Amino acid sequence: MQRICVYCGSNAGRDPYYREAAGALGEALVARGLGVVYGGAAIGLMGTVADAALAAGGEVIGVMPETLLAREIGHRELTEFRVVQSMHERKALMAELSDGFIALPGGLGTFEELFEILTWAQLGFHRKPCALLNVNGYYDQLVGFLDHAVDTGFLRRGNRDMLLVESDAERLLERFAGYEAPRVTQWIDQESL
Ligand code: AMP
Repeated sequence: MQRICVYCGSNAGRDPYYREAAGALGEALVARGLGVVYGGAAIGLMGTVADAALAAGGEVIGVMPETLLAREIGHRELTEFRVVQSMHERKALMAELSDGFIALPGGLGTFEELFEILTWAQLGFHRKPCALLNVNGYYDQLVGFLDHAVDTGFLRRGNRDMLLVESDAERLLERFAGYEAPRVTQWIDQESL
């Protein structure tokens, strides 16, 4: 593994531990020799991850659509800053540059990015690990909802299990290091056709 993509909020959340966790993840990635790929913003948890990884001497690549440069304030000190034309291009390039994906706390943008990369895993388009860093239980209800989707027959257990969930960055990166992608399970239920 060379680089990990971090999806996270363009806001920082109300409590200081979100920023602390974002900074700790940035440092933990660099300590393992991993570069960071992210959305390129200088604000919110996005800025915190980037700043922490840069301060630790790591490689940080930002990918941002031209239309968001002003709104999200492009980070000016990254190792590399890639400007793209659309949100779709942004997500595709972030995925291509990365060997694994971690979502920190965030809002709609973070959810959208996480679920897209998970559905690509479900379809077998990539075999890279996808994870939630569940800081202070932020994602407990989302994880509970995914289990509900399994219980009600809309999500296969094998696909649900493609999402690794950890509250500690070190433990999560250990799991990434030993990750073996599961076999893609049938994603259309033949019996219901
Ligand atoms: P948020 O979690 O809503 O604070 O957003 C985090 C990041 O996701 C920001 O850089 C947003 O620009 C980005 N984002 C929001 N919607 C999308 C989308 N549809 N595709 C790609 N990135 C998005």
